[in-house]
Amino acid sequence: MSYDDSNIFAKILKGDIPCKKVHEDDHVLAFHDINPQAPVHILVIPKGAYKDMDDFTKNASADEIAALFRVLGDIARAQGLDETGYRVISNCGANGGQEVPHLHLHLLGGRKLGRMLAA
Ligand code: AMP
Repeated sequence: MSYDDSNIFAKILKGDIPCKKVHEDDHVLAFHDINPQAPVHILVIPKGAYKDMDDFTKNASADEIAALFRVLGDIARAQGLDETGYRVISNCGANGGQEVPHLHLHLLGGRKLGRMLAA
């Protein structure tokens, strides 16, 4: 399945719908999740049209891959999460439970996050 550019994060990237922006540069946008699951719940996404982690790790450039993870770490430190710990999740495809088909990293922290998987 190819990238569907009507997804909600594509609309955020185009500026068609708003977001609570945390960071933006040439390769990456980060914003607060609309339905936070923890005191800190930030989504870090590439600006390129990659539908999931599989697509990204196959097709993104080294610069895009480096930028995504560098920004993730920078934001975690800016939020003070390097002191207390945090979790990074990227749901991929049907078994991963991915709802929005544009790659995103969930950065979660600010409380003890419990078991890694609900069930
Ligand atoms: P996933 O299930 O991994 O695809 O996660 C999608 C995430 O996007 C969920 O945590 C949603 O709360 C979040 N989300 C959906 N729409 C928006 C939006 N307009 N702004 C910010 N976060 C959103």
